This record gives sequence, structure tokens and C-alpha cells, in this order.
Amino acid sequence: MPDKTLWDSCLSFFKDSLPPQQFNSWIKPLGFELKGDQITLTAPNSFTLKLIQDRFLPEITKRAEAFLSSPPCFELRIGKKAAATTVRKSPASIIDTVQPTPKVQKSQNKLNPLLSFDNFVIGKANQLAHSAAIQVAESPGTTYNPLFIYGGVGLGKTHLLQAIGNHIKHENAQAKIYYVHATNYISDVVRAFQTKKFDEFKQLYNSLDLLLIDDIQFIADKPGTQQEFFYTLNSLIDGHKQVVITCDTFPKEISGMTPRLTSRFSWGLTVAIEPPGLEMRVAILLQKASLSNNPISEDVAFFIAKHVRSNIRELEGALKRVDAYSRFHKRAISVELAKEALKDLLASQNKQVSIENIQKTVADFYRIKVIDLLSKKRTRVIARPRQIAMCLARELTQLSLPEIGAAFGDRDHTTVMYACKTIENLRNTDTAFNANFNLLNQTLRN
Ligand code: ADP
Ligand code: MG
Repeated sequence: MPDKTLWDSCLSFFKDSLPPQQFNSWIKPLGFELKGDQITLTAPNSFTLKLIQDRFLPEITKRAEAFLSSPPCFELRIGKKAAATTVRKSPASIIDTVQPTPKVQKSQNKLNPLLSFDNFVIGKANQLAHSAAIQVAESPGTTYNPLFIYGGVGLGKTHLLQAIGNHIKHENAQAKIYYVHATNYISDVVRAFQTKKFDEFKQLYNSLDLLLIDDIQFIADKPGTQQEFFYTLNSLIDGHKQVVITCDTFPKEISGMTPRLTSRFSWGLTVAIEPPGLEMRVAILLQKASLSNNPISEDVAFFIAKHVRSNIRELEGALKRVDAYSRFHKRAISVELAKEALKDLLASQNKQVSIENIQKTVADFYRIKVIDLLSKKRTRVIARPRQIAMCLARELTQLSLPEIGAAFGDRDHTTVMYACKTIENLRNTDTAFNANFNLLNQTLRN
């Protein structure tokens, strides 16, 4: 049975790459079924379902693509392994059922009403993206088109995208709005080819007032889909219909994407969402906690924010753990309790970001040797990554400036200070550099 082999390969991959507790809680209970190119995953509850969709689907997709002759089409369901209720149909199946004039039904626009501007916390890291999103939501099709939002995982791209959709829907109930994740867009294209319903596919997309497409990097290395998307994009923009795109990197950095598409992406406005700083992480925690009936003090918010630095999704996860721990033990939330609740997370974090880890990651990224980072060599190709690694060590470890200097071939602490300053300036002036820095930063934190 081919599906057994595919799923077995996914199972053994996750078993090796996840802590046993996560594997047993998230992956093991999943139901898996393969029919043609249709994969059905069944999760026991909506929480697991969302987690699978956010964290594990890309890897499963990758494996399925390698395994099947055509790109897979996913259906995610809630239920027992056998009988289940569908909660998310692939947009491809919408195309199949839309007859004869395709319309985007309200129930099919995939907007999540919980992701709004109201509950989006604004800070330095996202204020540009936020204000661009507001402008687009208030006058769609007439300001920035497309609006291209990029940034690392868990920083709020999907939230902003959905907020735009919800705002426009609220202002104009008739607006044809469609949110689609790029992997589902790919399935749409493939399905349209297979079922020879290409006209309907085109009509569906071209009839939209607002297209929200999430994680566009997934169409890299898919020339057919890119071509279709190029037409869709042009047709919508020419018709003054709004398109908003999210991506994990800025347009020119997406490898495997045709230049005519990446240059088209930059025609409107390209904005970054950056990892939030400490104060913003605190603000987010306080806001999220105030929405539950188990609020937290600033002390607790600072404690969590100091230790969970990677992204907002992780921050939410940590808060949920603290909240659950407090409810379970029937104790009010305090720093002490947060420490207990996040014990595992704190331990694994301390283990992970070592200075050696930083040096190795930066050296790999820039294709140089760790030994060069520690050497006296001062050529730009070595010196710049060395400065980056020093700066990351300053941010991610508890080491002092002299200790960091010592770990980089016995350098003085003033060299480390100078490195941090240089990197900060570069980050403020060079977008590409800043994106690479953020990528490294996030990779190390995760
Ligand atoms: P991305 O799409 O960039 O990976 P998401 O939009 O899924 O990230 O955000 C991850 C989680 O963090 C979501 O639950 C989202 O609601 C929350 N989140 C992100 N940014 C903010 C913010 N500025 N204010 C409040 N919640 C946020
Ligand atoms: Mg997202």
C-alpha cells in the first residue's frame, strides 16, 4: 500500500525530529488516508488540527510531493480516525462544485474572524506592515497593489492578511474575498488541469475583489503554478482588485521563482514584519492574557517575554502553558509558577543557543569555516559573518562582551561592541542584509 509507505516515512521523520512527547501528542493520533492525489488527515480536535496545519503540513507536503506523481491535495478533518467531519476543504474542491458561474461563497472565503486588527498588537517590529495593511483595508485596489508582507514564521503575517479580509468584509458584505494558502492554490491549479475546468478556475480567481494569498514561497520551483499566478495577479491588479501576498522572505530572495513574478511582487509595496523586541513581546502577552479570565502581572509577562524570544506563536504557546498549569494546580499565576510551567522549555532553550551553535550556523550560512571566524583573517567575506556571529552571541546568550571576544579567537570586548554597532547600522540601511540577519536569528532561536 503506497499510502502506508508515505505515511510511514512521515512518521519516522517526525519520530526522529520531534521530542517524544510532541510526537505522541500531535502526530501519533493522526488519521491518514491517500486516494489518488488526495490526502486526508484526521486530527482529534481543532487545536491539533491547527497545529498540524501550521507546523507539520509543509513537511508532509514535501514528502508527499516526492512520493506522488502530482502535487497532493489536502483535506484536514476533525474526528476519529475513521468517521470524520470535514472542516476544511481544499479550494480545489470548491472549483469542482461551483457551477455554472463560479461565485465565492461567504462560507468559502476561509476568513477567520478571530484574526482582526482589533487584537493585533502594534510595535516597532510591525508598525509599517500594520499601517500598510490598514490603508489597503480602507481603500482596497487603490493604494498599494499588490501589498507584499514578508517575515519569519509566527510573526503575524497570516494574522494581518486575515485582518485585511475581515475588515473589508465588514465594510462591504458583498465583496468577493478569498483567502488561500499557496499550497492550496497549487492544488487548485493542478486540479483545474486534471478536471479540465480551467475556465472555471480562471473565472473564480478573476472575479474576486480581494485575493489574500499566504506563504507564496511555496510556489517556488513550480513554473506552471507561477505562470497561472502571474496571469491572475495581472488580471486582478489591472482591474483594480486588491491582492495581498505574504512570504517568508522578500521578493528577490525567493529562490526558484521566475523574475517576472518577483519583480511584479515589488510593484506595489513590500513591507517587513520583524521579530518583536522585548517590550512588544510583553505587550502582546499582556493583551492575550487580558482576553482570558486569568490575567498576568507585568512581572510575569516580562519573565515569559525574556525567555521566549523566537516569535509570537511561541509566545502564545508559552502563555497557554502557564495558564493551563495555573488552572490545573488551582494556583494564581506568579513568576514562580511560570518558571515551573515552562521548565522544559527553559531547559531546552539554555541548551540550544550556545556560542558554538551560533558560530556553526553563521559559518554554514555564509559557506565559510568556523575556524576562519575565529582566525585573524580580516577580509570582508570572513569579517562580516564574524561580526554577525558576535552580534547574535550578544543577543542570544548570557555571555558578557569580554567572554564573547574571548570565544572569537581572543578578541577584545571593544571589537564585539564595534561589531554590534556595525551590524545594527547595516540592519537599518540594507534590507537584504537585515532579512538574512533575521533569518539567522530565528533559526537559532527555534
Ligand atoms: P505567521 O503567519 O507570520 O507565521 P501568524 O499570523 O500565524 O504568523 O501569527 C502567529 C500567532 O501569533 C497567531 O496566533 C497570531 O494571532 C499571533 N500574533 C502575531 N502577531 C500578533 C500581534 N501583533 N498581536 C497579537 N497577536 C499576534
Ligand atoms: Mg502564516
